[in-house]
Amino acid sequence: MPTLAVIEDLVVAFPDTEGRRRLVVDGVWLDVEDGETVAVVGASGSGKSLTILALLGLVPAPGEVVHGHVRLVGVDVRAADEATLCGLRGRTAGLVQQEPSANFNPVQRLWRPVSEAAKRHGLVSGVRERRALAADLLAEVGLEDAPAMVDAFPHQLSGGQRQRAAVAAALAARPHLLVADEPTSALDSVSQAELLRLLGRLRHERGLAVLVVTHDLELATATGGRMLVLHAGETVEVGESVRLAKGPAHPYTQALLAGRVVPSAPAELSRSRCRFVDGCPRAMPRCRQARPALADGLEGGLVRCFLWSDTAEAAHG
Ligand code: SF4
Repeated sequence: MPTLAVIEDLVVAFPDTEGRRRLVVDGVWLDVEDGETVAVVGASGSGKSLTILALLGLVPAPGEVVHGHVRLVGVDVRAADEATLCGLRGRTAGLVQQEPSANFNPVQRLWRPVSEAAKRHGLVSGVRERRALAADLLAEVGLEDAPAMVDAFPHQLSGGQRQRAAVAAALAARPHLLVADEPTSALDSVSQAELLRLLGRLRHERGLAVLVVTHDLELATATGGRMLVLHAGETVEVGESVRLAKGPAHPYTQALLAGRVVPSAPAELSRSRCRFVDGCPRAMPRCRQARPALADGLEGGLVRCFLWSDTAEAAHG
């Protein structure tokens, strides 16, 4: 059985106003095994949302993946045609988008979007079957009075209820992997905790793998699985979230955990120096002369820092 999701050395570029290729992701590594929870954490502009779009073959034009391996259940996403990708989306990986309202058409009653992926993949047909599936899914994600809720419009739900309904829709075609992009950013703290508990329960009951993308380190830690830290378009640290929360190896992760203000603007995606060198209290002269490679860190983790490895990364492309 191939690893569920694998990204190796991803590079995504967009043209700037003068038509020059500008890298916005350069050096992301990620893997998700069956049944595992992985949290991808990074500030705005770190490349985390583009990474999951690349995983699903959804990088919006004029952006493009210009380097790297991207595989879902062993399928080469970069080489796959649109029909193959449509077969993977929803069925292999269900996506919950950041903004609850983005998951729904405001003029459609809930049963339609919630059962849409199952219909697309030929798992249900006919209105009666779709409504029944939607009611089951809405009940599974803990929405009260699910049989009546199938006829509700999205605006009649609270933010927390909409996000639960979005999870229900992402589950409709029984995917192996649930990808949630900033699933709690629009929710209050009570709804955030409830949604996290829901994701944990679904993982347990359905044997799902869960990939959560967030800017919130506390939330990433609370997922309890592995954590990947992204900074300036590259993976800088990977490890068990509990270990990372206690003893982060990379100075950027240490700064995040200490609540230190780190530049929120995307750093220059340099290949000739460490991208955290201007914010790093432990910077050395060589950090301005080469880019560190991702290398073995603590307890099976990975870290991109010369404090842990002397290895510099070869530039590509
Ligand atoms: Fe700091 Fe150097 Fe490590 Fe970069 S490589 S995080 S500048 S010590």
